[in-house]
Amino acid sequence: MLKLPGGRVVTGACSWCGGPLPPRRRRFCTDEHRRKGHRAERTTENDDYAKSVVRQIRSMGVRASADLYALRSLADAVDNGRQILALAVDGARSRGYSDGEIGQALGITRQAVWKRFPRQPKVDAETTGTGSAA
Ligand SMILES: [Zn+2]
Repeated sequence: MLKLPGGRVVTGACSWCGGPLPPRRRRFCTDEHRRKGHRAERTTENDDYAKSVVRQIRSMGVRASADLYALRSLADAVDNGRQILALAVDGARSRGYSDGEIGQALGITRQAVWKRFPRQPKVDAETTGTGSAA
């Protein structure tokens, strides 16, 4: 039994079907099972993933206190995170979630959601070329 970085364990059985591994195969018995197994493992945006992202940003912060290039990288990451959060809130609204429900998930009031994530004006597909959405 071989333990890989990240805690994955190679046991000699296909990680998809559990069947025996042919020689020179490390995790999956066939290419098809490798594709299926990787697809199944791809959903990584869980709570552990979120905690890992927070740890990474925290360590960026530690490094940024002594390295101005890292400070810029940290600022970019934080800006991206804010934009992505706003997009996620827009997406939740378009799926029918109310600002109250979104606020409950974020631990803030409905009014705070409304203020922090103002509704973006709907851009008509035929007027996007002009850049003026009114
Ligand atoms: Zn298999």
